[in-house]
Parts: sequence; structure tokens; C-alpha cells
Amino acid sequence: MPGRTPTATVGPGGHRPEARTTEPAPAKVNLFLAVGPCRADGYHELLTLYESVPLQDEVTVTLRPAPDGRWRFRVSGGGPGLPSGWELPRDTENLAGRAALLYAEALAGAAPGPGGGRASSRPVGPAHVEVRIEKRVPPAAGLGGGSADAAAVLRALQRLYGHPLDTADLLELAARLGSDVPFLVRGGRAVGRSRGEVVLPRPAAPRLPLVLALTTSRLQTPEVYGELDRLRERGEAPPPGADDPERGLEALLDALAAADLERAGPLLRNDLEAACVSLCPEVEVLTRLLRESGCVGAAVSGSGPTVFGLARDMDEASAAARRAGRDAPPGLSGRVTFVPLLSGLPGERRGAAANPLEPF
Ligand code: ATP
Repeated sequence: MPGRTPTATVGPGGHRPEARTTEPAPAKVNLFLAVGPCRADGYHELLTLYESVPLQDEVTVTLRPAPDGRWRFRVSGGGPGLPSGWELPRDTENLAGRAALLYAEALAGAAPGPGGGRASSRPVGPAHVEVRIEKRVPPAAGLGGGSADAAAVLRALQRLYGHPLDTADLLELAARLGSDVPFLVRGGRAVGRSRGEVVLPRPAAPRLPLVLALTTSRLQTPEVYGELDRLRERGEAPPPGADDPERGLEALLDALAAADLERAGPLLRNDLEAACVSLCPEVEVLTRLLRESGCVGAAVSGSGPTVFGLARDMDEASAAARRAGRDAPPGLSGRVTFVPLLSGLPGERRGAAANPLEPF
């Protein structure tokens, strides 16, 4: 994923007093999310298809020399993505700070001894790590915003320290931070298995014309999974294993590979939808609204409440966003923003709105 050139490429133990880099942290949607049984470790077995979207936070990482020889981690942030009354968790309470902490531990393990080793010969001494997050991705929205920030910190530290960790180690570290983090380290399009952390990249073409319905409502991931378990126990949601999700995913991937978005639309899936609707009934309204506004399909992203629609092209996505904004019921208008955008990583988007947060 492209980031900005660091202002200094040498770590804090080198000659430069300070090193800084800024990384975009794009969010994701789940085009497909099949939820299997709850495992002994408390996670559900998942089969998912991740897709990057150019709605992104901006993460700036600064390394300062540590005169006391101790690592320190500071995380702060703000920005238009933070709802009023929301405090971004600070320091290592923030997933981005935890990413820096785990990276520092891994770096200590990878540092060369006197005879050299796996890491480069670059200095890798302790630093004071400062992370500043400009928040544009709404939190607790199913868009993986916090995970994207953590992934951006890992990319930034790799760049600042001269890539001392290999890809496998970096992805293992990412998986310890959260199920979505390994995908978000690289972005694009990928199948996720296990609890989502085992990722297999897929060709990212074609880019998809989407409409995001960003609402001021929030859902916490553990509550949504808990609600699904309750609905399944009561027979109000299909049990895991009721069908073969692999076939559904294969059908969706085939439709995408053929750039047949009309066929792909009805193949979008999210098994958490019933649980999201149960906790936040507007999810059902938004899904229907997007379909009735001209999208060929619509689904919840992650654990919601963000809903997205798939359109045939960007003109139709823009028209659907306008129509949905116009037809939203009175209780929702003013609380929901419909954003047309072309999926993919920043820098690769064509035809998307100049400002993806511009309301319709
Ligand atoms: P996921 O789908 O990964 O569960 P989400 O998109 O639903 O994530 P996040 O934006 O990651 O939600 O936020 C979930 C919770 O994580 C928030 O309630 C917040 O307290 C906590 N959090 C920790 N770090 C961050 C961060 N950098 N940005 C946003 N939230 C964070």
C-alpha cells in the first residue's frame, strides 16, 4: 500500500533526531461474511471476502530518541469521523498504540546480536513512538477503522525502521491485534478464513461502484456476535452449516471475475444481518432503501451498522445515493449519509467523488 516518504529513514538510534511518516488507513467492507459455529476460543469460524474502500483515516507516526532507553507510546487523535461525545482511546488503549507496542517487542526479538542476524544492520533502539490519528472512518461501524489504524502503524514502523520484519512475522503480529488487521496491512481484495485473519489475496479488479450508508448509530462487534448466537439458539436465524458457504463465495468470486455486477449483487451476503437488525432496526430500512434506489444488491458490512449497495457503474451509484438520500424516512434523514465511491485502495480510485464524505 503506498504511503508517504518518511522525512528520515533512519531509526532513532541513528544520526537523525526524529523520523516521521504518514500512512493512509483505508477502511474495508465485507462483500461476503458467512459465520460458522462459535469455537472453543470464543471466536466464530468465518468465511469472508474483504474489499478496501477509499474512506480512510490518516495515521502519522513519529519516532523520537529515547534518552532514557525506554520505549514509550503516545496515541492521540481527532477528526470528522469521530461522533460528538466519542473519545478515541489513548495510548496503548488504542489498537494503534497496541500495534506499536507489539511491533517494538517484535523488533527487540529481531534485533541483530553482535554477529548480525535476521534484522538489517540499521539501528533499532527503543524510541518514543507518537501516533496521531486523523479520524475519518466512523468507529464501531463495521468498517474496521481501528484495525486499519493498527495496520497503518505496522506499515509506518516497518518503513521507518527499514523493513526489519519479514511479511510472515508482520502478518502474525497483525493477527494478534485483531482478525481484520492482516487483511488491512495489505488491503485490496482478499478471502479471509478461520476468524478472518488467514487471508488469501484475490485480484482486485474490477473496482466496484458502491454506495455506503453511513449512519450515526453504532454497534459493538461482541454484542452483534452474541445476538447471532441467541437468534440461532432460538431458531430465529439459520444455524451454521445450513448451507455450503464455499459455494456461495465461489459464485460471487466468479461473478466479480466476469465483471458481471448484476449477477454479483444478489450474491452479497452477511450472516450477521439478522443480529444487526435485531439490535438496530434501521439496518433493515437502509438495506431495502439501497436496493429500491437502484443498487443491484446491498448488504451489511462486518458487524454493522454500515450498509453498502453495489451498483452497475459510478453514474448509477451516484444516482442511487441521491435517491436514497431523498427517500430516506424522516427518522433517518440527517442521521445517514449516502456516499458513492469506487472500491479499492487510495490512489487507485477512478471516478469516485473528490471527497468521499461529501453528503448527498
Ligand atoms: P471491527 O469491524 O474491526 O470490529 P469496527 O469498524 O466495528 O471494527 P472500530 O472502528 O475498529 O469498529 O472500533 C471498535 C472499538 O474499538 C471502538 O468502540 C473503540 O473504542 C475501539 N478502538 C480502539 N482503537 C481505535 C481506533 N484507532 N479507532 C477507532 N476505535 C478504536
